[in-house]
Amino acid sequence: MVDFLKNRAGRQLLQVAGWGVVLWLACYAFSGHLLATVEIISAGQAHLVIISLIVLGLASFAYSALRILDMRDEMEGRRKAFDTADHIATHDHLTKLPNRYAFDRFVLPQAPDGQEALDAGAAEPVIPTATVFSIDLDGFKKVNDLLGHQGGDLLLTEVSRRISALADHECVFRFGGDEFVAVASGMPPEKEELFAQLLIHSVSRPVRIDALPTQVGASVGYARMPEHGSTLEEVRHRSDVALYEAKSRGHNQYALFQQDMQDKVAQRAQLEGNLRRAIEDKSIRPYYQPLINLKTGELCGFEALARWRNADGVFVPPQEFIAVAEETGLVTALFEQLLAQACRDAQTWRAPLLLAFNVSPVQIEDRLLPSRILNILAETGLPPSRLEIEITENALIGDPDLAAATIEQFHSAGIQVALDDFGTGYSSLSQLARFRFDKIKIDKSFVSSFVGNDKSAKIVDAILGLSRSLNLKTTVEGIEEHAQLAYFLGQGCDIGQGYIFGKAMPQTDAIAFARQRKRVLAAC
Ligand code: C2E
Ligand code: MG
Ligand code: MG
Repeated sequence: MVDFLKNRAGRQLLQVAGWGVVLWLACYAFSGHLLATVEIISAGQAHLVIISLIVLGLASFAYSALRILDMRDEMEGRRKAFDTADHIATHDHLTKLPNRYAFDRFVLPQAPDGQEALDAGAAEPVIPTATVFSIDLDGFKKVNDLLGHQGGDLLLTEVSRRISALADHECVFRFGGDEFVAVASGMPPEKEELFAQLLIHSVSRPVRIDALPTQVGASVGYARMPEHGSTLEEVRHRSDVALYEAKSRGHNQYALFQQDMQDKVAQRAQLEGNLRRAIEDKSIRPYYQPLINLKTGELCGFEALARWRNADGVFVPPQEFIAVAEETGLVTALFEQLLAQACRDAQTWRAPLLLAFNVSPVQIEDRLLPSRILNILAETGLPPSRLEIEITENALIGDPDLAAATIEQFHSAGIQVALDDFGTGYSSLSQLARFRFDKIKIDKSFVSSFVGNDKSAKIVDAILGLSRSLNLKTTVEGIEEHAQLAYFLGQGCDIGQGYIFGKAMPQTDAIAFARQRKRVLAAC
């Protein structure tokens, strides 16, 4: 009761009651006049009770009116607060675009002439048509790294403005960091491709941030309703699948959803699940392929190559599962597991043979990579001088400064560095000048094609001449035939690797191989 009297409604009741008392007293004071009036009206039947009832009625009316006004204000306030909260929840605070929650509630704009209701004369309702475009920026992480989050935010704001300029208002959504969705209702299929190209063109135009011209790319996947799904969410999911396909083709690509893309995504999801389990179970193992000193014929080391035999007993190609590990962030766990095992295995090899280990391009972007490797060396006791890290050319283009710093850290720790698959990536010659390598590995594609192919032979000769003049050792990969071996022996190449010497083999076979090689050489 005390609480009620303290709040606004209670106070109003007290006020109204107070006014009622005053009114009642006033009526009482003038009761003579009032009674005279009432007697005239009701022929002498009225008395004080009637007056009190009138007063009470008037007071109740005043109170109700006040309450109604108050409740209206309160409801208005609540509605405004709800609208604000709803807007915050359904819009991105940076770009002000609606977000994925807004998309869940999004209703396609009415087709002209109310088509989506019942088509005139037709019994079936006409299903609305729309195309959903999923857009993902290419190279946004680099902008963020270079210009900081503020620069990244400015770029996202500009990109969202450009996308919004191409589509209808409230039909462009920001789904996540650098992911956008645009819905185009009633777009004819022949215009979709053009629209996807327009999106890419518009987003990839340079943006000036702090006077610096900056650029990102865009990948676009799209799907249409009702052909690819009966609900907007279903169609958006499919456009995402198409986006995934576009991304896999490189930067600034677009793709329309096709059923086989969905199957590919399902297979990949399965592969990812299996890979996670394989890493947990430690069922991916390092195998070892011999590296032969071509001048002496001696075994000088092994290259560790990841091997995964899946539940069906089939070997999954390393390039396949390593790509998935890179995309899903599993690569570090896999790498640490394999390197630790390989270092332990290398410790049991009799002679102090070299252990060559591949590092993927994604790992080069990991600033902690040198310390991870050094920790494993310290834990397993393998001397750094026995480890050689193989880096492919593609790993050097993402962030060349970071790659150069990482390579320097390897050198100062005493770890050797080899440039793998030389001749297959980009700008090989500039990389040789910029980064410090101990060795280059000529890619097997040159070796397989050079016999009888004048051009390949000349390229191989040029690579060998270049590495000699730069004082770099050379390994030739993929030697399978005696003619190839004879040629590289004649060219003064340092190390050979290939099926002619041996394929990648498990640790026990590698130990046997080393013993056997020694025996054969001793017998010669
Ligand atoms: P890579 O580092 O260039 O390894 C050499 C590849 O050539 C291996 O394929 C090897 O089996 C194959 N090879 C060697 N000699 C011959 C030959 O005479 N003829 C033919 N046709 N092929 C030969 P593999 O094991 O399938 O590995 C493919 C690639 O996968 C590797 O190329 C490497 O880039 C990557 N990879 C393998 N294991 C790992 C790993 O543990 N970590 C990382 N990051 N990458 C790995
Ligand atoms: Mg390699
Ligand atoms: Mg290679």
